[in-house]
Amino acid sequence: MNISYSSISSYLICPSRYFFSKQPGKVARSASLIYGSAFHELLARRFRGEQVSVKDVLSSYLTGKPKESENNWDGKVVYGSKDWRPDVMEIWMQDAANLVLSLPTKPQAVEMKLTRDFGDFTLTGVIDALWGGKLVDFKLTASRFFRADVLQAACYALLNGGPSQFQFFVFHRDKTPRLEPINVKETQDQQYLDWVVNRIIRPTAKAIKAGNFPANPSHNLCSQDYCSYWAICRKTGERNG
Ligand code: SF4
Repeated sequence: MNISYSSISSYLICPSRYFFSKQPGKVARSASLIYGSAFHELLARRFRGEQVSVKDVLSSYLTGKPKESENNWDGKVVYGSKDWRPDVMEIWMQDAANLVLSLPTKPQAVEMKLTRDFGDFTLTGVIDALWGGKLVDFKLTASRFFRADVLQAACYALLNGGPSQFQFFVFHRDKTPRLEPINVKETQDQQYLDWVVNRIIRPTAKAIKAGNFPANPSHNLCSQDYCSYWAICRKTGERNG
C-alpha cells in the first residue's frame, strides 16, 4: 500500500478524520490546506519561469476544479478564521513568494515526486525543492514548531534514500515579513529514520490496512476551525450527539 506524510499525519491526528478524507462524497476543504497547496504551486511555476499571478493560482484553487487528490471536495471552503480571507491571503502569499524568489541562489529541482518501497508499504511524497544540496519545504504559516514537522522532514529524507540535510523555510507575517530558515538535524541520523519507519510509519500503514479508524475528539485540532469533517463526524461518526 502507498502512504504519504500527509496521510500519516492525518491518521495520527485522528484516524476518523483520515477515513473521512478518503471517502468520495461532499466534503468541504479547509482554507489552510487550499492556501498551502496554492502557494506550493505558485512557487513551483514561478521557479519554472512562468509569469503566473498569485490571484490566478489562488482563484483556480478556490473556485476551479479540485486537484486529483481532492476528488471528494465539493468546492466549498471552510474558513476557520477571518485571517484566511482570500484578499488577505493574496497579499500574504505575494509577500512570501517575493521573499523566496529574491533569495540569492536558485533551487536545483522543484516539486520532486518520489516513492520508496519498504516491502510492506510504499512511501510517497512531493518534496518542494532541492536547494544548495538540502531538501527544502516551504511553510506559508509560522505555527509552533512541533514534532509533526520533524516527522515530515524525516519522511522526505527517507524518500531521498536516507540521511539528508533538510531545511524548512518558514514565512512570518511580521510588520516586516520575513523568511526563517530552520534546519532539522534529525534527518541526518539513520537511527532516528529507522525509528520513524518502525515506530510510526509501519504501524500506521498496518492500522490503515486493517481498517482501524477510531475518532480522536481529544486532539486540539478537533474543532470546527481545523477539521473539515467536523459536521460529518457529528452526524455519522463517534462524536454523534
Ligand atoms: S471532528 Fe474530531 S473526532 Fe471527528 S473526524 Fe474531525 S478530528 Fe476526528
